[in-house]
Amino acid sequence: MKSTAQLKALMEANPAYPCTGCRSCESHCSQKLPIPDYVALLNELKEDVEKAEELKGRYLQYAAGRGRATDCMFCHSCENNCPEQLGISDAMFLAAKVFE
Ligand code: SF4
Ligand code: SF4
Repeated sequence: MKSTAQLKALMEANPAYPCTGCRSCESHCSQKLPIPDYVALLNELKEDVEKAEELKGRYLQYAAGRGRATDCMFCHSCENNCPEQLGISDAMFLAAKVFE
């Protein structure tokens, strides 16, 4: 796990994701990743890096049932089906970095 200072720097360097939770992306992900759940965790971490341990616990619960952010193959299929045109593959890369 990264230090609080490292996490703070990482999260400040990355955008918040204005995900609506519509879940349109999920059915287009060959890895069946819980994309909006991971994106929501990242947004929470950006708001408060002191919550890192709690958020990592939640991440691992999602990952146990559905797959880890490191399983992302960067195929961009999700992004092509996101009404908000979010950079989901970047978000999965970041989630892997901060939660694994
Ligand atoms: S880029 Fe990653 S998260 Fe998006 S559809 Fe492909 S495998 Fe799934
Ligand atoms: S399609 Fe985009 S806005 Fe909808 S849940 Fe997925 S990431 Fe969020």
